[in-house]
Formats: sequence, structure tokens, C-alpha cells
Amino acid sequence: MSDPMMPLPAIEAEPTSVPPAVLLANHLKALKLPSFAREYEKVAFEAAQDRADYPRYLLRLCELERIDRERRMVERRIRMARFPHTKSFDTFDFAAQPSLNKALVLELARGEWIERQRNVIALGPSGTGKTHTALALGLAACQKGHSVAFTTAAALVHDLMEARDERRLRSLQKHLASVKLLILDELGYVPFTAVGGELLFEVLSQRYERGSTLITSNLPFDEWTSVFGSERLTGALLDRLTHHVHILEMNGDSFRLTSSRKRQKDKGEAK
Ligand code: ADP
Ligand code: MG
Repeated sequence: MSDPMMPLPAIEAEPTSVPPAVLLANHLKALKLPSFAREYEKVAFEAAQDRADYPRYLLRLCELERIDRERRMVERRIRMARFPHTKSFDTFDFAAQPSLNKALVLELARGEWIERQRNVIALGPSGTGKTHTALALGLAACQKGHSVAFTTAAALVHDLMEARDERRLRSLQKHLASVKLLILDELGYVPFTAVGGELLFEVLSQRYERGSTLITSNLPFDEWTSVFGSERLTGALLDRLTHHVHILEMNGDSFRLTSSRKRQKDKGEAK
């Protein structure tokens, strides 16, 4: 082993007029190491001050590159997920929704259910935080390294019908089957046509035991037939979805309603 504190032996370089810093920048760009390129001078200065040897200097640069790369990948997964807004559990008031099993939700935020291809169904009336919870679980999944796609049930059915008309249904189905977590918000507000229901059923069947699906709905299971229009289809769908499922019951008051009532009350008292 050579002593890492020893200066590097001089290498007979090709005579060139290009300064080494320029060559280095080029190489690091080709190797896709932007944090190396950005930080190597500063880290070299710090390493010299701390009397860190060459391996430690390289280690620091590698760590910076990996941290930055992980951050960029999380950001990329968040962009790909197409969340309508970013919501997290930091801004979720569990006390306002006592029917929701907080321990289960926080466990789900760890993301292991996605590794085990489990599903989550959040049920409850409007304004009880279903979308907020779905967005926060989606964000947590992106942070844990899982690919996510967020859509509403109506938008997905619309996209599937459009893709079918434009003869690109297969590629959309392939994409939907490949994400680790598919979030389907607001199942139940709009009933589907027979074709729409079947296309959605196909997507969910293709994901069965291959990926996780999170569905939010204002309708209890026994009313899902009214959305799909077919008892047979709904039965088969629920059978697959609920085989490995965590149910989040959100039956409390509407957060919107409660907070606007509270605002009005506060205003009244302030008068
Ligand atoms: P749902 O999808 O069940 O209709 P949302 O998740 O859209 O309800 O919630 C409505 C609004 O209230 C959103 O802005 C959401 O962030 C907020 N909200 C709902 N529940 C809570 C809660 N427990 N804590 C903080 N904000 C909440
Ligand atoms: Mg909602």
C-alpha cells in the first residue's frame, strides 16, 4: 500500500495547452458528477486545513455527490408523480380527524407497504383529509425511493379512453402498471361509462400483487357498483383490491367546514 499522504507520482502527460481545471470540468461533466465539479476546490481547501489525506478528501466529495444525487432523484420522482400540490403530514392535524388511525398512517408513511404491494383505501365524506393524506403518503413514497403516479379516477378514465381512441392504450397501461404506487383520488364523484369502468378495472387488475394502489372515495364499498355500473366488475375489483389492504376510515367532520365555522366564530368574537 502506498502512503496516502505522499504526493502523487508525476504522470507524464500529453503536452497540452488546456488548463487542468478545464479538462477536469469536462471529465466530471462526462461522468455526470456535478457536485464533484462544483465542490472539489472548496473541499480541497477544507481538507488541507483539516490535514485530511487523499482518501478522506475523495470520500467527502463522494458523499456530497451521493447526497445531491439522492435529492435530485427525489425531486424527479415528485415531478413525475404529478401531484396537484405538495402536502405533507407536517401540516396535517391528526387531532382534527380522530376517526383516522394515526399510528397506522405514520407506519404507512415509512413506505414498507409499497415494498409488499399492499393497497390503501381511504374512505370518508368530503373535506375529511383524504386527498391531503393521499398526497402526503405519495410524497413520503417518493422520498423512500418509490415511483408514484397521482391522478383522479375521473381523469384516469378520461386519459384511458383518449389513449384507446389514439391507439396508444398499451403504452399508457404499461406506464400505469410500472409505477410502484398508483394514487387514484376521488373515486365515486363521477360514475363511469361501461367502457370507462372496464378500462379502469383492467389497470387495477394489471397491478394486482405487482404494485400498490391507493384509492380515496367518498362512497362506502357497497355503493361502488353505482360508479362502475356493473356488479360483477365491482365484485371482482373489490376482491383484488381488498386482498391485501389497509383501510383508512375518515368519518369525522369536514376540515374545511370546521375551520371556516371557527374562522366565522373568531370573527364574531373579535367584533
Ligand atoms: P377530502 O379529500 O377528504 O375531500 P381534503 O384532503 O381535500 O379532503 O381536505 C380539504 C382541505 O382541508 C385541504 O386543504 C386539506 O389540506 C385540509 N385538511 C383536511 N383535513 C386536515 C387535517 N386533519 N389537518 C390539516 N388540514 C386538513
Ligand atoms: Mg379529495
